Amino acid sequence: METNPLTANTKEVDSTILEEFRVGFAGSIFSSDDTEYESERQLWNKMIDKHPGLIAQCTGVHDVIQAVNFARKNGLLVAVRGGGHNVAGNAMNDGGLVIDLSHMRTVLVDPKNKTAVIQGGATWADVDRETQAFDLVCPGGVVSETGVGGLTLGGGLSWLRRKVGMSIDNIVGANMVLADGKYIHVSESENQDLFWAIKGGGGNFGIVTSFEFKLYDLGPEVMFVSCMYPRDVGEKVMKWWVQYTRQLPDEITSDCIHWSVPAHPAFPEEMHGTPVTVLAALYFGSAEEGQKVLQPFREVAEPFLDLSNIYPYGAVQQMFDPFLEKGVLNSYWKSLYVDDLSESLQKLILDRANQSPAPQSLISIRNLHGAIGKVPTEDTAFGDRSARFLVSIDTMWEDASQNDHNIQWTRDFFKELRQHSKGQVYFNFNSDMSGSDHLAKDSFGANYEKLVAIKTKFDPHNFFRLNANIRPKG
Ligand SMILES: Cc1cc2nc3c(=O)[nH]c(=O)nc-3n(C[C@H](O)[C@H](O)[C@H](O)COP(=O)(O)OP(=O)(O)OC[C@H]3O[C@@H](n4cnc5c(N)ncnc54)[C@H](O)[C@@H]3O)c2cc1C
Repeated sequence: METNPLTANTKEVDSTILEEFRVGFAGSIFSSDDTEYESERQLWNKMIDKHPGLIAQCTGVHDVIQAVNFARKNGLLVAVRGGGHNVAGNAMNDGGLVIDLSHMRTVLVDPKNKTAVIQGGATWADVDRETQAFDLVCPGGVVSETGVGGLTLGGGLSWLRRKVGMSIDNIVGANMVLADGKYIHVSESENQDLFWAIKGGGGNFGIVTSFEFKLYDLGPEVMFVSCMYPRDVGEKVMKWWVQYTRQLPDEITSDCIHWSVPAHPAFPEEMHGTPVTVLAALYFGSAEEGQKVLQPFREVAEPFLDLSNIYPYGAVQQMFDPFLEKGVLNSYWKSLYVDDLSESLQKLILDRANQSPAPQSLISIRNLHGAIGKVPTEDTAFGDRSARFLVSIDTMWEDASQNDHNIQWTRDFFKELRQHSKGQVYFNFNSDMSGSDHLAKDSFGANYEKLVAIKTKFDPHNFFRLNANIRPKG
């Protein structure tokens, strides 16, 4: 039986079929009758409150295949959960089946060949721990609890991005379970169309049970700049950064972040909530050399607080974790690529930062180009790589009664920002993912039609639809 659309509720599944699924499944299966259900359905974004029919916590490929077949045969809406950090909450659904990979976190490093095989539910903390045992790194995210799966399939912007590209630029191969339950390997020489599609095309094509990544020598210590300037010199700092990043070597990756000092014991209480403009940068190379070349980032004005230092690479990767913990903040994010930051755009960003409705919010600007821009657009599913900056409005707040206000504020700002860009978005930083084709078109640009053809071939019924969805033809 093949049902479409996938709207059936798990409660409608015949109890014998449900029992068979439970018996053959090696991991745990949670329903609302289980005490674990409440904690298992919680995602990183506190605002997401979905009630799936079943959460199938897989232990390996066998479980994933079984869950996919069970959902397909019973017409169930499927969500795939990796690290659970997607702000749109695509890792959960209402009434359907969640295929949860969060217990598939093994990372096997091959130090000789400088590669790692990483299971689809691993977090970047798992990866950093295992790779740094050999002074190796894999380009991932900047918050260590973020999942490898979702982050990589959407692109993957790390502190290493200008030197070695995005996460997708470093995938050597992957193992996947497709919508029809088939298990396949994708690489440069096998299933090339799917290999191309997963490099930026999101969770549209199947469940990646493991990735193989290229690794690089770096660490154990690196120079990292985290220099907080008072917001009243924010204009000067941002202007300097925009100019300075024009001529930087690829070894330097940096961000300019408008934020407020977090109300966290790591900072003296009198500093909490002070608006700041942060310059953050990592040098890909020796820590001593990094100290020299990153010094200008620390001398733009009198810093409010300078946390720059030589740190273990693993510590840099966890530096922002305490302020972005799972389930603490309501979050609504939007992002846009911009070719440049004109003075009028800088002014707009700063004005909006100064009017931000919630102190936990960030407006973070990532410097791109370097290795990212050297990969031709058509080489991966990821859209246009020509933009010099990514501007991300990461609105975050505690009080749920402020949800509507904060969402509207973000949307209004996004609309203004859009006038300064070609409209291309990074869907990994996007809370509006349901329903429309806009997101896919704005994300994939010239690659969109090719992605539609691959989606139509491998997932004609749109079984994997809770993502930056590419609708199959027909
Ligand atoms: C605090 C925080 C920090 C972040 N930092 C960065 C950053 O530094 N760089 C960056 O690029 N992004 C960053 N992101 C964005 C991040 O890339 C996305 O949120 C991404 O979706 C997270 O992946 P996940 O596996 O944790 O998400 P989940 O919510 O578990 O999954 C999101 C979607 O990805 C797909 N998916 C996940 N795993 C698999 C799999 N194995 N196979 C098939 N499909 C899968 C599914 O469609 C799923 O719905 C950050 C997000 C947060 C909340």
